[in-house]
Amino acid sequence: MDFQSRLEARGLSRRDFIKLIGTVTAALQLPAIYQPRIAQAVENAANKPAVIWLEGQDCTGCTESILSSFNPGPTEIVLDLLSIRYHETIMAGAGETAESWLAENIKQGGYLLVVEGSIPTADDRFLTIGGRPFRQILQEAAANAAAVVPIGACACYGGIPAAGPTEAKGVQDIISGKPIINLPGCPVKPNWLLGTILHYLVFNQVPELDSNKRPLAYFGGLLHDNCPRRGHFEKGEFLTDWNDPAQKDFCLLLRGCKGPKTYTDCAQSWWNDGVNFCINASSPCAGCTQPEFYAAGLSDNRAGLAPLYVRTDTMSLPGIGGVNPETAGKVMAGASVAGAGIHLVGNIATGRLKQEKAEEGRRDK
Ligand code: SF4
Ligand code: SF4
Repeated sequence: MDFQSRLEARGLSRRDFIKLIGTVTAALQLPAIYQPRIAQAVENAANKPAVIWLEGQDCTGCTESILSSFNPGPTEIVLDLLSIRYHETIMAGAGETAESWLAENIKQGGYLLVVEGSIPTADDRFLTIGGRPFRQILQEAAANAAAVVPIGACACYGGIPAAGPTEAKGVQDIISGKPIINLPGCPVKPNWLLGTILHYLVFNQVPELDSNKRPLAYFGGLLHDNCPRRGHFEKGEFLTDWNDPAQKDFCLLLRGCKGPKTYTDCAQSWWNDGVNFCINASSPCAGCTQPEFYAAGLSDNRAGLAPLYVRTDTMSLPGIGGVNPETAGKVMAGASVAGAGIHLVGNIATGRLKQEKAEEGRRDK
């Protein structure tokens, strides 16, 4: 089916398509001058096997995130136009037909391989598809891929399944010798995937990544630095009682917010077409974009961010020493009255000054 017919099958005219590309270009914060290049890249990609999408140990939440956020939205439409050649949840085929279709497309090569879900390593029999271990299917598909894009915490770093008996791992622990672009989160945010795919198609190269293989465009800044509650943090106003209306917009640090350790653009680019995001809905950030979201998957035994709603580490304030998290609000407010630089105190309270050196080296250039 040619591109025009594919548009018509989606109920889109050429004009609708150009308008859609304009929306996508703006959402990606690219100047309008890129519109023709993006439109051409999508059109070119529609005629070849652009995307193969595998699912390992997952809850299908990332697929849901992509497909349900709009109905239908730019991400769904563009992904559809991009010719997803294999996706267990949305494709019509099943059984041997689907598996031979996958083998055929792997043979053609040159696609982006999107992976959702983790890979069991304790025993390959924990996950087989068509009688074959998922690990083997992943390795075969990765071998002919142009690049691999693990989506969601599970595919990137093992995620929640890493805490269970399957000894689940992320793609980067299984695949080597291929460009890997990690898009973590629980689930992945649709515009991260759409933007990454389009960047790759337009520029034919992997976007700039950090040391955890995440695009700097989306994961280059600390949530804490852009948080709408940051002013309350600076004033030492922390929510301690969910039922006190006076505290409703206070900083969620003492309720377990992991924003000071989490790199994401969640505060700048809200979920569901800008409707909301965790902290604005009074839910502390769980750090779902961090490798240590579920630490059981980390080989270096780094401390994890779980449990939710609990501030796990102690704070050390200058001249005061270790502070009980539950009383830190009072201490910080006292420091403010005493004339101490509250921003400095805040930085120390979140461990940022201590971590500064480590953070300096965390970016790949
Ligand atoms: S600790 Fe969390 S709620 Fe408080 S300012 Fe930082 S990111 Fe926002
Ligand atoms: S605010 Fe935190 S927990 Fe919520 S989606 Fe963003 S990174 Fe994940």
